[in-house]
Amino acid sequence: MRLTVVGWAGSFPGPDSPASSYLLEHEGSAILLDMGNGSLGALQRYADIYAIDAVFLSHLHVDHCIDLCSYYVARKYCPRGAAQRIPVFGPSGTADRMAAAYGLPLKPGMHDEFNFMRHDPDPTVVGPFSIETTRVAHPVETYAIKVTAGGRSIVYSGDTGPTDSLVELGQGADLALFEASFLAGPDNPTDLHLTGGQAADLAMRAGVGRLMLTHLVAWNDNEQVRAEAAEVYDGELMVASSGLQVEI
Ligand SMILES: [Zn+2]
Ligand SMILES: [Zn+2]
Repeated sequence: MRLTVVGWAGSFPGPDSPASSYLLEHEGSAILLDMGNGSLGALQRYADIYAIDAVFLSHLHVDHCIDLCSYYVARKYCPRGAAQRIPVFGPSGTADRMAAAYGLPLKPGMHDEFNFMRHDPDPTVVGPFSIETTRVAHPVETYAIKVTAGGRSIVYSGDTGPTDSLVELGQGADLALFEASFLAGPDNPTDLHLTGGQAADLAMRAGVGRLMLTHLVAWNDNEQVRAEAAEVYDGELMVASSGLQVEI
């Protein structure tokens, strides 16, 4: 399975990256984890946007979902004819939220372009991918997502504060793609985001041997975030960057 970092900027797009979006490919199939601001543009560097088999949204903050509106336009008005309907998995209310964001009536909204499905506690299968989710600690309904293909797996934190549910979902994964929005400090709110050190601690507890820090916020120094994680983590530590590709 190959991961391509389409967008890694946390909370809002940065000068060098769209907001969150990750492309996973295996055996000719492709899925997207999140579609934050600007990600549909960058995605065109790495993939045929009409060759995506499904989209998984961790939550409905705009830095994780809003480019689904642009993707709706691209699929509906494709000059070759409307693209085939594909599944979009997300929290409850995803279809109505996306329709409202675009100014569409809720019916049909985007239902002709996307088959909206709520994240299921049971594994979901899309082509060669098996996908599991769990609720994590964030102010809105948010899911961490574990994807397994070809016997290898990646666990993506979505946005979260420290939580055991991410450790449980991530057990035995080959790569942890964890957010690190905060720098260490006494005033970080709970149940919102992770520091690099907290991301590292969760990856260690899950026994994941490779950690990629992401959702890095433009007002932080990425090197400081990395250094805080490195104090805790003894596996292979990476920092997300635009277009970074990793074989999992
Ligand atoms: Zn976010
Ligand atoms: Zn969020």
